[in-house]
Amino acid sequence: MRKISKEAREFCEADKQLFIGNKWVNAADGADFETVNPANGTVLCRIQSAGESDVNTAVDVARKAFQGKMYRMSPAKRAGLLHKLAELLLRDLPVISEIECLDNGKPIDRAIGDVRAAVAHLRYYAGWADKIEGAHIPVSDPDTMVYTRREALGVVGIIVPWNFPLVMAIWKLAPALACGNCCILKPAQQTSLTALYLANLAKEAGFPPGMLQVLTGAGETGSIIAHHPDIDKVGFTGSTAVGKKILAASAASNLKKVSLELGGKSPNIIFDDADFASVRESLVWASFYNSGQECTLGSRIYVQEGVYDQVVTQLAEDARKLTIGPGLGNPDLGPLISTDQLDRVMGYIESGRSEAELISGGNRLKGEFSDGYFVEPTIFAAENQSIRIVREEIFGPVVTISSFSDEDELIDMANDTRYGLASAIWTQNISRGHRIAQRLQAGVVWINGYDLFHPAVPFGGYKESGIGREMGKSALDLYTQEKAVWVKL
Ligand code: NAP
Ligand code: MG
Repeated sequence: MRKISKEAREFCEADKQLFIGNKWVNAADGADFETVNPANGTVLCRIQSAGESDVNTAVDVARKAFQGKMYRMSPAKRAGLLHKLAELLLRDLPVISEIECLDNGKPIDRAIGDVRAAVAHLRYYAGWADKIEGAHIPVSDPDTMVYTRREALGVVGIIVPWNFPLVMAIWKLAPALACGNCCILKPAQQTSLTALYLANLAKEAGFPPGMLQVLTGAGETGSIIAHHPDIDKVGFTGSTAVGKKILAASAASNLKKVSLELGGKSPNIIFDDADFASVRESLVWASFYNSGQECTLGSRIYVQEGVYDQVVTQLAEDARKLTIGPGLGNPDLGPLISTDQLDRVMGYIESGRSEAELISGGNRLKGEFSDGYFVEPTIFAAENQSIRIVREEIFGPVVTISSFSDEDELIDMANDTRYGLASAIWTQNISRGHRIAQRLQAGVVWINGYDLFHPAVPFGGYKESGIGREMGKSALDLYTQEKAVWVKL
């Protein structure tokens, strides 16, 4: 087991405050909550919980910054700040990844990968900062000139979940800041620590007060942000249920812009002409990566009849070989995030036992790690497509596997879901690959791969998996608005 550094331990164990106007402050009412190490259930530290008056203060600071320092800041300067933040993240990579590993539970190498992904994102959007352009539009009257400007929205609330705490924050912060907005980040209550560490780095990088603030909170803070009449936009990643609440809050307050990256129940489709060595290498990770706590998880596996038994047998074998344990030991899978999530996942496994055939796994880990929230990778064979474990997002290491005969039947099964985030097709018939890709209702389709990401490639959901596209050039649309200027010459 890796020994945690003194810096990371001290950071994790010190009680935390809110980051408002580049200062650390307590919540006005002093409310706080605990954050827990999910590998053993121990409390790491206490964190202040922002209430209404703290959100108001942060919004005032952000509004002033937006109208002052940020308005005056050149795009090149914004790019420079994002590059500097990336550099500081790399400098502190060992400490940040250990903090994430303790707070979220994920294997240390995955936490390191997360920091590197965050750095890549910051650099990609730093490159965009001075390339956000309007257009000149010819109209009927030659004595009239029309041009457009792409302007920042203003004060942006960013609300993120606990599964990839740092990466989810940076996915939104990088484009929002590159576009010139002032951001208020609200991390998930289970995983606030890397967001707070990031705040220190932003200050060190030279971010002026109000450009980035961090409001931690448990339960109410996100809702206060979503309802705030002087916040111009909320960028959210999390459950579909909360995504709907955020849309409703926008409607009930000031029609703030909303972009949502929500749940999924993604089909991972294996045809009988697939390259089975590649399928085998990928499938166990597509099914159980991050202990299944991933919105793109290939949680519905569809296998063509002739190769179904072979795929089931191999996946079960590979799943049993996965190592499970505390993140610092760098296992294949860490714990689930919380007791709530553990209960939820075990509830789905119980429901699966009664409605489907358990192929492998199905238990909470006993023995050495029984204090942590560890669950075995679990596979159910499911013929009936209307049962809960096929229809609902479980967000744990649980997949269903079903067989299909031909393309038409497959398309009906794959699209029979309220979600539409990701999907994958395994076939060596490339025409078939493209044909199925056209017919799948999902924001991303991987052909002969899974979970491939790059900052330049748009990502987001069809149907109830979300609104808007993050990453790539698309994310600039989420954090700017277009203004048309008419000039009578
Ligand atoms: P969640 O409730 O959607 O929480 C995500 C974020 O939203 C957190 O920062 C949370 O803050 C905040 N939030 C909660 N209620 C809010 C409200 N009414 N208005 C504004 N913000 C609000 O997710 P969860 O409860 O942690 O997990 C529940 C399920 O959501 C999971 O089991 C999984 O199915 C799904 N999920 C999906 C994703 C994804 O990437 N698609 C990520 C996480 C979870 P607090 O921490 O203070 O409550
Ligand atoms: Mg925690």
